[in-house]
Amino acid sequence: MRKKRILRILSVLMVLVMIFSAVPMMALAEDEDDDGTVNIDDMTEEEQRAYLKELEAQIQTYRDNANEQAKYAKALQEEIQILDKQISQVEKEIVDLNAQINAAKLKLDTAQTNLEKATADKVAYQKQLEERMVAMYMYGDNGYLEVLFGSESFSDFISRATAISAIIAYDNEIARRLRDTENLIDAQRALIEEQELALEEMMVQLKAKESDLEDQMQIKNDAVTQVAALKDYWVAQADSLKDEAYELRKILAEKNSSGDFANNYTTFLWPTPGYYTITDYYGWRICPFHGYEWHYGIDIGAPRNAKIIAPANGKILRASWYGEYGNCIIVDLGRDENGNTYKCLCAHLNSYAVDVGDVVMQGETIGYVGTTGNSTGYHLHFEIIINGDNVNPLEWLTK
Ligand SMILES: [Zn+2]
Repeated sequence: MRKKRILRILSVLMVLVMIFSAVPMMALAEDEDDDGTVNIDDMTEEEQRAYLKELEAQIQTYRDNANEQAKYAKALQEEIQILDKQISQVEKEIVDLNAQINAAKLKLDTAQTNLEKATADKVAYQKQLEERMVAMYMYGDNGYLEVLFGSESFSDFISRATAISAIIAYDNEIARRLRDTENLIDAQRALIEEQELALEEMMVQLKAKESDLEDQMQIKNDAVTQVAALKDYWVAQADSLKDEAYELRKILAEKNSSGDFANNYTTFLWPTPGYYTITDYYGWRICPFHGYEWHYGIDIGAPRNAKIIAPANGKILRASWYGEYGNCIIVDLGRDENGNTYKCLCAHLNSYAVDVGDVVMQGETIGYVGTTGNSTGYHLHFEIIINGDNVNPLEWLTK
């Protein structure tokens, strides 16, 4: 018990050490207020960018920590499963052993009953024998001798002597057999008692083993709880910085009129998470409305009101009806370092989640799938426009 408590205290201490040793020192002392909080508004744009990078790196570290704990929790769970199996096995052994002990007890009861019966038989036989002798010869206290001396002739004497010796022999034989039976049962009973003791000793050992396994299980379960708490801690840490990073990106995006939204401009996110079926590709096609025509985007099959997300950071240029496009959103995705401009267009929406002028972050919901405008069913028509020209979105999107 004491050992277990010490182990628990140790593991709690370990957790605390892990938490405090891993908390980073943000290298932003020059922009800290008197209360120690970082004030983004006091920074130059350059500093804001540097801070954003640092935040992103820190978020990654926190997520790595959380993943580490998740891995540890998984390993612990596996160990717990093994222990659980071992405990089940021991419990089964205990049930088996209990059955054996009960069987031995039953045998012991039977042996005891048999022994009592054998003893009673012996006593009864001896009594019966004495009564028979008295009834046959009606002799007094002097027993066999008086029977012999009462002989009327030599032949009578011989016949009485023969009868007496036969009776004595018979008496001895029966008494011996009864005594043997009694001894045999007694020996059996001793043997069973010995077996029962051995079984009970095994039971004590098994129960100790079970208790030991349960202690181990308890320690592992405690560890799982602590690891889960630690994981939650890291996730919460990452989340707290995520909001700050998000705000910072918005500030930077709004500040920057050149349209630099800090995108990587190599890949964009798939606009309809969970729905990846292309019902119509980019390029020449037979259109139900216009016959043979160039298709400026891709059509992605998705149910009514499926989420449409911003494929990258940007600003909403349009969120309104746009002729054959129906309800349409156009997002300005900014400018890469070589000055190329990027936009995307989402058509046939059921409804909008943003307004014109809104700055949106990559992954943020901007609208919902519909079938407005020239459309024959629920789907998203999606275009990517670089320097004013449409490109094949499939060459840019990543799932
Ligand atoms: Zn289309």
